[in-house]
Amino acid sequence: MLRTLSEVQTLDLELDALATERGQIPPALTAARQRERALRAELQARRAELGALRQRLNENEMELASLQERRKKAADAALRASSGKEASQFQNQELQFATRLQELEEDTMPLLEEQESRQEAVDELQGQLDVLQPEVEALEEAERERVAKLDEHTRELAERRAQLAAGVPASLLKQYEQVRKARRGLGVVPVTEGGTCGGCNVRLPIFVVQKVRKGQGVTRCPSCGRLLWSTNG
Ligand SMILES: [Zn+2]
Repeated sequence: MLRTLSEVQTLDLELDALATERGQIPPALTAARQRERALRAELQARRAELGALRQRLNENEMELASLQERRKKAADAALRASSGKEASQFQNQELQFATRLQELEEDTMPLLEEQESRQEAVDELQGQLDVLQPEVEALEEAERERVAKLDEHTRELAERRAQLAAGVPASLLKQYEQVRKARRGLGVVPVTEGGTCGGCNVRLPIFVVQKVRKGQGVTRCPSCGRLLWSTNG
């Protein structure tokens, strides 16, 4: 009975190890995920900046068109003027619009250059992401396979464990599980040849050792509380 329980424990320890292994994501995948996340964030920020710049350029374009129209109207009005004085007033207006047009064009030129270099930066980042993405996907696929294999193994072990545990009285199983949880690992341990606890190594009282070796009921280590069993029992 305790021997069966110790076989249950062997499987439980394997299951613990599998759970730990499952949680260990390969460093290459973690690094690739981080890099992809950083690249996407960077790309999003650069795209937003480019969008704001385009907005500004659109506004400039609209103002340029409006200034051109007003300059043309002033020029036409100057031609149709009824007096020399009126004509020179319109010519002055035309000159003012022309000056503002030139200023605005000069302001706009560097923005156009900036737009070009920002677009290049966005394209460059997008290129990096295009290269990285298949790499990440391959790593993710490998990770899914790794986890699926572990899960499959876990299912098999859990099934065997359930079959074995069915042969152990429920109250004993419960005790074992409680001790194992409290002791983080071993719930049932053998008494060593030298009469010590196989869990905490404390020297066990003779009567405890004898009780275990005779296989009389369930005996626990007085020191660590683990269930004791005898390898020759
Ligand atoms: Zn002990």
